[in-house]
Amino acid sequence: MFDVRARALAELEHRMALFPRNIDGLLAAATANEEGFGIHATQVRVLEILMKELVQRQRAFLDRLRQDVPDADFADGIDILLFEEMAGAHKVWSIFSRAFAARRNPEIAPQLDAADLVAAECYRLCMGKARNWGLLDADSLREPPLVCLETCPEPMAISREELLGVLCDVGYRFHDLKLPIPLVLLPADHIECTWLLPTLCHEVGHNVDNDLGLSVELRQSLAWDGIAPARQAVWRQWTGEIVADAFGVLLGNAGFAQTIAALLLALGPGKRYQAPAPTSTHPHPRVRVPLIGAMLRWFGIPALDAIATRIERDAQALPALDELTPFLDDVSVVAGVLLGTKLAALGGHGMAELCPHLAADLKQAQKLADYLESGELRPSPDKPSHFPYRLVPVAAQLAVSARSLEPGRLAAIQQRAMAFVSAIPRPPMLDGKARLTAGRAAFYARLAREIHFGGRTE
Ligand SMILES: [Zn+2]
Repeated sequence: MFDVRARALAELEHRMALFPRNIDGLLAAATANEEGFGIHATQVRVLEILMKELVQRQRAFLDRLRQDVPDADFADGIDILLFEEMAGAHKVWSIFSRAFAARRNPEIAPQLDAADLVAAECYRLCMGKARNWGLLDADSLREPPLVCLETCPEPMAISREELLGVLCDVGYRFHDLKLPIPLVLLPADHIECTWLLPTLCHEVGHNVDNDLGLSVELRQSLAWDGIAPARQAVWRQWTGEIVADAFGVLLGNAGFAQTIAALLLALGPGKRYQAPAPTSTHPHPRVRVPLIGAMLRWFGIPALDAIATRIERDAQALPALDELTPFLDDVSVVAGVLLGTKLAALGGHGMAELCPHLAADLKQAQKLADYLESGELRPSPDKPSHFPYRLVPVAAQLAVSARSLEPGRLAAIQQRAMAFVSAIPRPPMLDGKARLTAGRAAFYARLAREIHFGGRTE
């Protein structure tokens, strides 16, 4: 076996030296602020830390294989090194390098930038609250999420605890992956349709949930007691997705509700939803839409009640499924569990306290919606304070839903929305001057070391 081993080791060592390739080019572009790329400077540095840690891990792995280990152990080691460590590192590099390359493409950079700003604001708003409640220190806050364009049909979040495998060829055994920069994957054309971007509020919700452990705690909570035990088990299976929907409602209010309802009500009568799908992580549209309605109602705001009434009525028109009918009796209780339960993960606060200004948000979004629809009376992008980025997609969704869509209206709304985003002064966090302190660099290196491509615990 000696020759086989020697050859395998030499080849692996050579392959490791080829990797990562282009990080210096990205760092140079960020430092020179080429075409505004400086705003990604800290993210690129974090990527550098991540890649260095992954390569170091591979080398350490190779050193262990050089020891006098039995053939079977050597083979298993090579297997893990090839199929988990090296393939995983290449996939991570490919996702991030493509994401950064897209930001240097002038045709899509402004739209990606807008999506990044929405995602970053949603993330910072929630994590900033958590920090004010004493749950995190400044050094253990992650970078804002990076929006990546994918060929997926629906947006999805890849949080540090989630399978990257869903992105990859079937058979990849990535599991339990922790990423120092959260990713939000978006179907490529969504960035041209600002009214679809309220879904970012749900996707970033997954990232926040993974950082703070909300759905883990909610799943174990006794707050579900008012629900029959057999159904409790199903609600617990849906917890990750319905927590993300609660973030959608908190951060994107009526805009989020209408975006999801429009998609699910269109798909609801089709083949995909003819049966209840007992193992799905998402509730069936027949339940999910009324649950979002119940969450809107939980706040007692008349304008949100009116939207709840509309989407609930539309959901009732979907073909009935007898197995799901009992769940409809639970939605008010579940909305209360999600939004009101005091969680240790939030320092004794409830999720609703993460974003307690829905009525004011909706009012502000409605003003912008009126402008996006009519082209008249544009609200100020910066007075009395900066217009929240996350409310621009909400406003676009309200504008799109306001009346029937004659040709050209969607394009006009998109053009006004993008112009409005670029008129909002950039927040200091994204002006390219952020520094990576030693404490934060150490935090990111630790996160990178904790990545388990194969879901193993070492
Ligand atoms: Zn989701």
